[in-house]
Amino acid sequence: MMIQKTRWLVLGILCVGVMRLDLRANEKSLKTWKAGLAKVVITPEQPIWMSGYARRNKPSEGKVHDLYAKALALEDPAGKRLVLVTTDLIGFSRSLAEQVAQGVRRRAGLARERLLLTSSHTHTGPVVRDSLITMYELNPQQVEVVSQYSAKLAEQLIGLVEQALEDVSTAKISYGTGQADFAVNRRAASPTGVKIGVNPEGPVDRSVPVLRIDDRHGNLRAVVMGYACHNTTLTGEFYQLSGDYSGFAQYALEQQYPGALALFVMGCGADANPNPRSTLELAERHGKALAKAVSHVLDRQLQTVQASLKTKLEFVKLPVVVPSREEFQTRLQDKDVYRQRHARRMLQLLDERGKIPATYSYPIQVCQLGRDLTLVALAGEVVVDYALRLRQELKVKTLWPIGYANDVFAYIPSVRILREGGYEALSSGIYYGMPGPFAEPVEELIISKVKDMASKVQGQ
Ligand SMILES: [Zn+2]
Repeated sequence: MMIQKTRWLVLGILCVGVMRLDLRANEKSLKTWKAGLAKVVITPEQPIWMSGYARRNKPSEGKVHDLYAKALALEDPAGKRLVLVTTDLIGFSRSLAEQVAQGVRRRAGLARERLLLTSSHTHTGPVVRDSLITMYELNPQQVEVVSQYSAKLAEQLIGLVEQALEDVSTAKISYGTGQADFAVNRRAASPTGVKIGVNPEGPVDRSVPVLRIDDRHGNLRAVVMGYACHNTTLTGEFYQLSGDYSGFAQYALEQQYPGALALFVMGCGADANPNPRSTLELAERHGKALAKAVSHVLDRQLQTVQASLKTKLEFVKLPVVVPSREEFQTRLQDKDVYRQRHARRMLQLLDERGKIPATYSYPIQVCQLGRDLTLVALAGEVVVDYALRLRQELKVKTLWPIGYANDVFAYIPSVRILREGGYEALSSGIYYGMPGPFAEPVEELIISKVKDMASKVQGQ
């Protein structure tokens, strides 16, 4: 009798053990990512004014290669989703980003905080609606071309996100970092202040973050790469559309890994330029250098990213120093045509609204992938000091700093750069139509908001 009881007991324990193992295996198979991908050509079909350089005097003349928007949809086992959109564009104006986000919410049910819109900041792409408004004096026909292009673009981007979400299937995601050396700090000291040039001593972030997306069998489906450097190898004399170095890098990787999609995300490279620059050959060379850095990373053992996803999008009010009406009136006589144009616009705003707001509501998005990878996506043209400081101070295992996200409305200078002056601190705001420069608290406000959001996201 005793022996029989013991037998049953042993059998029972074994059964429970097997069931547990089974459950664990099931759990393991459930705890995987799903990923979906999509791409769409966004090359303008007719000549269009090109963005990024004020001195251009005619619309585009053909293309070097096509411009793309690409999307990576991620879904964790709990069904939480994030769609990263990358574009070969100068930047999303807030109005364009919100139009896309609303369409995505309506048609795909995706909340705003789960959509991350980024731009490569190519300077050989089209002008997009409501972006860098003081830079160009377009005639009505050119305005119409930009407006039609932007309307079609918004539709294309909404469709792109839907397509990526419909494409999701089981995926493995891993992460690594490489390095590419062509970025150089561009804030060069001169007797008349800081000028755009080459400053080999200045801070720069040459890291190349890489996200690898494989299918369930381990075949490469997509690679997302980052780099913190202006897409300005090609200067203002170029009238052919292209993605500049980051366009060439995407093409090189897609050629090297047939069937895989390559996506490019800009880092905090507002004060970095490619070096050397100004020929098409150099743009291609830098693109290939970036692609090579990425493929080195892909060849190595990468860090697996666990399948869990948390996202947050919040706003912080940044202080802007708004000049007086008298100051704008004086600027109407300025010898600089852009300052004149800007002053006219500001006076018109003052007449219409009575006053100009002295703050800007700045969007910050934090996305936590697994336990270890934190994407911090900052709006505007963010200088390198933010990435360097966040890497030091943010209590996360691996940080991927992203700039030019969701709303590209101004340069985002640090306190150091505000004090030094120069283009990123002062004059760039004129082209963007900002009322005035940021005040010094800007840096601390952004850094502390990011810290707060990162800790909330980690604690969720
Ligand atoms: Zn820029």
